[in-house]
Amino acid sequence: MSIITNNDALVGADPTAVAHADRVTAGLGLPIDGIEVADPATGEPIAHIEDIDLEGALQAVATAYEAGRSWARTAPRQRADVLHEWHALLVAYAEDLAHLISREMGKPLAEARGEVKYGTDFVRWYAEEAVRPAGNFREAPDGGASIITRRAPVGLAVLITPWNFPLAMATRKIAPALAAGCAAVIKPANLTPLTTIFAVELARQAGVPAELVQVVTTANASQFSEAVLRDERVRKVSFTGSTEVGRTLLRLASDSVLRTSMELGGNAPLIVFDDADLDRAIEGTLAAKLRNGGQSCIGANRIYVQNGIADAFAEGLAQRMGGVAVGAGLGTGTALGPLIDDRAVRRMRALTDDAVTRGAELLTGGTELGSVGHFFAPTVLDRVPADAAVACTEIFGPIAAIQRFDSEAEVVARANATEFGLAGYVFSESIDRALNVADRLETGLVGINQGVPSNAAAPFGGVKQSGLGREGSAEGLEEYQSVRFYNIARR
Ligand code: NAD
Repeated sequence: MSIITNNDALVGADPTAVAHADRVTAGLGLPIDGIEVADPATGEPIAHIEDIDLEGALQAVATAYEAGRSWARTAPRQRADVLHEWHALLVAYAEDLAHLISREMGKPLAEARGEVKYGTDFVRWYAEEAVRPAGNFREAPDGGASIITRRAPVGLAVLITPWNFPLAMATRKIAPALAAGCAAVIKPANLTPLTTIFAVELARQAGVPAELVQVVTTANASQFSEAVLRDERVRKVSFTGSTEVGRTLLRLASDSVLRTSMELGGNAPLIVFDDADLDRAIEGTLAAKLRNGGQSCIGANRIYVQNGIADAFAEGLAQRMGGVAVGAGLGTGTALGPLIDDRAVRRMRALTDDAVTRGAELLTGGTELGSVGHFFAPTVLDRVPADAAVACTEIFGPIAAIQRFDSEAEVVARANATEFGLAGYVFSESIDRALNVADRLETGLVGINQGVPSNAAAPFGGVKQSGLGREGSAEGLEEYQSVRFYNIARR
């Protein structure tokens, strides 16, 4: 198969869009020094955020805790109304949010608008969920007692979020916490903190008590978690990020016996059977691979294609990936933005070189792009050996690594041969086959004939070392509630 050459020049940022994002940043009242936030498309600084010390972090815990005591006693309808108002404000400021997301994280503006829709949906969902029945009534089996179960807010929640979806990762945690009646201290990632700061400001304008949700930005994350998770006022930690940091937080949480939710790393298998609709499989793979520049925990990591369709699939995918317009997220027509930092670019380079050295065929991409910013070309590698690093680790970038397979049993075994278990994908026109394979995948979620399975109504989360707990849906609310019962004696 011949190599398809990639893209022309990088798409430059639209100055009007950049000015829009910078107006929003200027309105946040940020300090003039502190932790630097940079634009991944240029590497240039765009803002500074406060480096809050330990004393400040513990003060935030104390403030949120106090505010949480009265919030826990508010009526569900009151919490719902405030969340509806927050949703309305997030929608009203959707363009500001999208520009800010794109500026600080690098994703194309169209995708940032998609994140705003996705992220705000959680706020609406939990506004609706806040008033749903949360209790139960049972008779004791031997009679003589009635048991009422209730759900109480779990208490002050510490929320730690990654850089890749700066709005959605925050709303997916803050909204259910507030709906359940909890206070929150949120620590966003230093690479993309601006969107979270703005979204929390809008929550306050919507009527969320000013003290109830505290944003803590700090250069010393481990010092923060070691102190804050040991504070007796904290009852819950919800984390989204790498499995390595998740393990550290679980160890800390065990000392204080905290409730935990852990949304950790992935290594998603994407399986294309011979009987798949070729176009649908290619478009679905493109979405599962290139969404967020491949920097998604559910991004397609190991692409398994059955031998009968593999040549046509690989060629079609390489053609589509090779034609993707790369550039600044705020550039007109950009379909793939920069990676988050230079370290990520170097990793893509090393993963590609390692795979090619081990015998993989490079069909498109494989190179850094441009002289400023953190760009790597959309890359397709075919016939990747199973022991190549790209086939064993979370790629978190725009490399599609294709492996080929013969039988259903073989591919299921290979797909499950990982310590991770977040997402999986199956492409087949046989619904029986798709469901049978989905049933046997050891993952928390499966996209069937589609590449973007997340939704506010879906209980997102992993099995194995991809995590504990669920976000979104009714299950996501339960993560912030504890079950209690009253046993009423009956004569
Ligand atoms: P990361 O683990 O490096 O950082 C995540 C957050 O944890 C950041 O805010 C960071 O500052 C903070 N942090 C780091 N060390 C800490 C410590 N010792 N104590 C307290 N906080 C600490 O992850 P990242 O690079 O920001 O994000 C990428 C990872 O996140 C990938 O592995 C990806 O799969 C995962 N992720 C998972 C999901 C999911 O829902 N399962 C979603 C998005 C990202």
